[in-house]
Amino acid sequence: MILDGKAVAAALKADIAEQIKTLPERFGRVPHLVVILLGEDPASQVYVRNKGLAFEAAGFRSTTVVLPAETTEEALLARIRSLNEDESVDGILVQLPLPRHIDSATVIRTIAVGKDVDGFHPLNVAALWQKLPCIVPCTPKGMMKLLASAGIDPCGKHAVVIGRSNIVGLPVAKLLLDANATVTVCHTRTANLAEQTRRADILVVATGRPKTVTGDMVSDGVVVLDVGVNRDKEGKLCGDVDFDSVAPKASFITPVPGGVGPMTIACLMENTLECFLNRFRGQAPE
Ligand code: NAP
Repeated sequence: MILDGKAVAAALKADIAEQIKTLPERFGRVPHLVVILLGEDPASQVYVRNKGLAFEAAGFRSTTVVLPAETTEEALLARIRSLNEDESVDGILVQLPLPRHIDSATVIRTIAVGKDVDGFHPLNVAALWQKLPCIVPCTPKGMMKLLASAGIDPCGKHAVVIGRSNIVGLPVAKLLLDANATVTVCHTRTANLAEQTRRADILVVATGRPKTVTGDMVSDGVVVLDVGVNRDKEGKLCGDVDFDSVAPKASFITPVPGGVGPMTIACLMENTLECFLNRFRGQAPE
């Protein structure tokens, strides 16, 4: 069965849009996300523009700041600090990857933790790993919601995650562990990847490499979450999983596009709303 991220995300967005409608009366305004994009890469521009349009469609205020690729790190940090101070801004997202002359880690930790809608700030990461309240990174959060939407409970299952990035692999491994799965994390130095993937009840593939997993590498009934966003030789979007050979063996599988991707943006909305509400907490009428 297809795990239809588009449909689940649409329901989540509709629910968020309903909540947004109630906010001006309660708090005087709607949540405001600022996205900073460095450089004029056309694909990133389209992606950021679509993100802005989706936010506006759901009732958020959305601002996109496009800075030249040669912007210095100092200038970018100054811009972030000024947005940190700006009372009208609830969420700040700096589009990654950044040009080489800018240190992403420095940028991420400069964003005020209360406005870190991506959940990448070291304090948010620490809180996630200590099971404290935090902003959970959007893609892993979206994957857990997709599993829940299909009634798939990770408890007692063997979850295999391929990829150990701070953005996807590590946080989703932690969320699966918190949901009582037994978790194996694989990477480029994993000795026999197929041996690990065949033992998976739930398989998360986040490598950025098309066809990392093929049909011979999975067992019957596996649940597959394909995080990859790649272009094949014909320029068509594809994931990290060879869908055609894996789908017949899977009990559930996410398509690309239309699987994990739409959930990421819906969860970004949820995180932005959460940052807004956290900022108003204590000042808000019940
Ligand atoms: P990343 O930082 O490049 O990490 C890739 C991870 O995969 C690394 O840990 C790497 O291992 C591992 N890996 C790569 N090739 C492998 C192989 N052949 N066998 C085993 N492990 C392998 O990538 P990311 O940021 O996590 O993103 C992964 C993919 O998800 C990309 O396609 C990205 O575009 C996509 N993505 C999609 C969404 C969405 O919303 N749909 C969101 C975020 C990312 P090492 O650590 O050993 O190098």
